[in-house]
Amino acid sequence: MGPASGYAAAVTHDIHIIGGGLAGSEAAWQLAQAGHKVKLSEMRGSGHMTPAHHTDSLAELVCSNSFRSDDAERNAVGLLHREMRDLGSLILTQGDVHKVPAGSALAVDRDGFSAGVTAALEAHPNISIVRERVDQLPAEGLTIVATGPLTAPGLAESIGSATGKEALAFFDAIAPIVHFESIDFTTAWYQSRWNKIGPGGSGKDYINCPMSKDEYLAFHAGLLAGEKTEFREWENVPYFEGCMPIEVMAERGVDTLRYGPMKGVGLDDPRTGRWPHAVVQLRQDNASGTLWNMVGFQTKLKYAAQVELFRTIPGLEKAEFARLGGLHRNTFIKSPELLDPTLRLKARPNIRFAGQITGCEGYVESAAIGLLAGRFAAAELAGRTLAPPPRETALGALLAHITGEAEVETYQPMNVNFGLFPPIEGRSKKADRKLMYTSRARAAFSGWLPA
Ligand SMILES: Cc1cc2nc3c(=O)[nH]c(=O)nc-3n(C[C@H](O)[C@H](O)[C@H](O)COP(=O)(O)OP(=O)(O)OC[C@H]3O[C@@H](n4cnc5c(N)ncnc54)[C@H](O)[C@@H]3O)c2cc1C
Repeated sequence: MGPASGYAAAVTHDIHIIGGGLAGSEAAWQLAQAGHKVKLSEMRGSGHMTPAHHTDSLAELVCSNSFRSDDAERNAVGLLHREMRDLGSLILTQGDVHKVPAGSALAVDRDGFSAGVTAALEAHPNISIVRERVDQLPAEGLTIVATGPLTAPGLAESIGSATGKEALAFFDAIAPIVHFESIDFTTAWYQSRWNKIGPGGSGKDYINCPMSKDEYLAFHAGLLAGEKTEFREWENVPYFEGCMPIEVMAERGVDTLRYGPMKGVGLDDPRTGRWPHAVVQLRQDNASGTLWNMVGFQTKLKYAAQVELFRTIPGLEKAEFARLGGLHRNTFIKSPELLDPTLRLKARPNIRFAGQITGCEGYVESAAIGLLAGRFAAAELAGRTLAPPPRETALGALLAHITGEAEVETYQPMNVNFGLFPPIEGRSKKADRKLMYTSRARAAFSGWLPA
């Protein structure tokens, strides 16, 4: 094992970045380009490794080699690419240099890409890369924590002490999220069980999708038969009672779900005036009400199996999913509660968080949040304030979700998607709507673009 360190005593840098993954590399680049001295600590290369990484290269891609769609006109992640390119993103620059054919997606030669990022950072006169594991949150000095979903345990413990144990998760338990506009209200209806309305509630807290006995039995059989993803050998994700995969609950008996998350009692189907045999409930997932999560539907079903099966639910036949379900090992904090709008830990504002540890999901999103953390810190070091990007932009929508728009109680990792953007009112064709989102975003972005 190599050395493990706390905070370097002799400070020769303006800012310390912990973690040289997608987010930390991007943050380091942005700060260095703005003229600030960066110390970048990365534990790989010092005898320490996460269970998912295989090399010592910075910004290693741990699984697929895809940055997903590069279509900036009709796709939210494509739009995010474009905004990041406009801000001089190192990750996108190297992605473009090491691009491999992948249709309208941006896929990269993974070794060339990581080598390119590493070389660019190593060659930068403002960056010093230290191969060391950091086990404590620095007590002082500007810091960006970008240690990712597999943050080493010592540092995770230190983060837990700073945030409170309840605010740090080691596993995600993701229920699918549906775009509101794709729910069919000729079948679905709003109602809280027994018409109970909690404080601040409007009676529209839940959307209910009813099932007859036959529909329920077919659905139950589909859950048992559907193809599942296996946990990785090192994941050891425990099943807590509160976040048991829906198919595991289904295995316990044909009626287990009907007495659990799919309970129909206390819900009056307006079409029949009766309680349905079973029900799927959706709960609002963001403040603007564009996203709704399927309550209790965390699952290890493969994505294609989820789409096929969940579209058999009455009212969700045409559901568009902002996120599909999953369970993984994943260290992340309750950012909407803990972070301010520029990613600073409210309780210790010298510390920013960036990347997947903030609860965004994906290579591009992690790099994007690293880019913003770097830009916010650079502005702070220069004695300026940088306003967050407008909510209408991809960067702004993702950042707003992480730093306050998302529901705190159900906060789980999220990819960028149009459901995070402020809604566009009125009816329009889906394709036109996407163009409306992206052209509005471009206009808002050009008004914000910092020097
Ligand atoms: C198994 C797995 C597969 C994934 N597959 C995909 C995929 O196919 N596509 C996709 O878009 N996203 C995927 N993700 C999600 C996610 O986008 C990536 O994990 C992404 O790399 C996150 O970027 P990051 O910079 O936040 O963290 P990372 O890229 O993981 O970087 C964090 C860095 O911090 C270092 N580090 C950790 N602790 C310490 C410490 N105490 N001191 C010093 N250094 C430390 C790590 O070695 C690592 O280099 C996957 C995640 C996992 C876990």
